[in-house]
Amino acid sequence: MTAKKIFLPENEMPSQWYNVGPDIPNGLQPPLDPATGQPMGPEKLSAIFPMAILEQEMTDQRWIDIPEEVRDIYKIWRPSPLIRADNLEKAIGTKARIYYKYEGVSPAGSHKPNSAVAQAYYNKEAGIKRLATETGAGQWGSALSFAAHKFGLECKVYMVRISYDQKPYRKSMMNTYGAEIVASPSEDTEFGRQMLKDNPNSNGSLGIAISEAVMDAASRDDTNYALGSVLNHVVLHQSIIGLEAKKQLAMIGAEPDVIIGCCGGGSNFGGIAAPFVADKLNGKNIRFVGVEPASCPTLTKGKLAYDFGDVAKVTPLLYMFTLGHDFMPPGIHAGGLRYHGMSPIVSALVRENIIEPISVHQLECFEAGRLFAQTEGIIPAPETCHAIRAAIIEATKDKNEPINILFNFSGHGMMDMVSYDKFYQGQLENYDYPAAEIAKSMANLPKVD
Ligand SMILES: *Cc1c(COP(=O)(O)O)cnc(C)c1O
Repeated sequence: MTAKKIFLPENEMPSQWYNVGPDIPNGLQPPLDPATGQPMGPEKLSAIFPMAILEQEMTDQRWIDIPEEVRDIYKIWRPSPLIRADNLEKAIGTKARIYYKYEGVSPAGSHKPNSAVAQAYYNKEAGIKRLATETGAGQWGSALSFAAHKFGLECKVYMVRISYDQKPYRKSMMNTYGAEIVASPSEDTEFGRQMLKDNPNSNGSLGIAISEAVMDAASRDDTNYALGSVLNHVVLHQSIIGLEAKKQLAMIGAEPDVIIGCCGGGSNFGGIAAPFVADKLNGKNIRFVGVEPASCPTLTKGKLAYDFGDVAKVTPLLYMFTLGHDFMPPGIHAGGLRYHGMSPIVSALVRENIIEPISVHQLECFEAGRLFAQTEGIIPAPETCHAIRAAIIEATKDKNEPINILFNFSGHGMMDMVSYDKFYQGQLENYDYPAAEIAKSMANLPKVD
């Protein structure tokens, strides 16, 4: 009998994270100071990040120890199971074997706490009392609220307006963990007030909420900023997903042929892919597929360039695929994955043709998510539906090919049922990338030479 679930014993949970940065051919470009166009050193960023995080952001070391305090909290849900989706395989009639790494077992219901706990820990160690952050769909906000509380830190969350209105239970979760939540744009920051004056009915965006949270952190000595994706240290923390999956596949003597993840800012996909990238560079035949929504096609229609991470231009310039920092993603898309930029690590792996990016439409994703729920039982988050859709595409290219597909099940959808309801009621539409909007936003990329 083949195993349905592969559990890693708790004492085999990895004790180090893996930094894929040094493996990337032609390397990563440094972040730039927008004021000077020169590489940005850690001093300037130390107003909003603790030094330990900045070291991780810029290190060339491949292996980084996971602090004991962080491992203790990880043990609440880690190691997460690796599960064979054999019922889904039967339903789509494929000989491919589909494995998923189930990150929905965490307190927030997604992979996000893997980095939230680490970030809260390093801030606590640095003597910080309060964290400010943004959240889109609410996953990161709930993860950081939980993690901050664990280390006795206050937490202030700027939640993108449209999600604030559409996902009231995410707010309740954050309240449960003791955080303070405000809809963004908000009256609590100078930039928020200005955005509200320009457009009182603004849906908000991750780019605006990031500006507010960074400004909050920069204005107070006791407060730092925490970002839930994109940056190198976040991908580093998420590498525990791939490290565990690798051990679990080894337990059943399997090796992945295709590794799949959905891409918002790139952290869950970067995390599952990272430990396998060196294998590919050493000659193993592994394909990496990064999946994004057709309505926010950063990797497939964006440009690799230096850009700001936010709307108010308060972040350093990052070298990444971008749709332009003032790109306003369409509010009609149900899922997360609505960020204009992409992790520099994932961007560089796409540049080197190690990751293949694809885009998919939201209706086919919800169809895939429903089929997954009906066969495997677990209801996926709308973001995760993108990865499932891609796994089905790969598994049905040649149904007789017994390849091993590994995808990251980034989170469950129990807090996203409003999106499913809209899907059932026919209120969701496919939405192609707004070419004119993107062109407009691209014209505002910062000039760097
Ligand atoms: C945040 C989130 C994503 C997208 O973020 P990445 O940084 O690209 O991983 C995907 N799935 C779920 C469930 C999320 O909460």
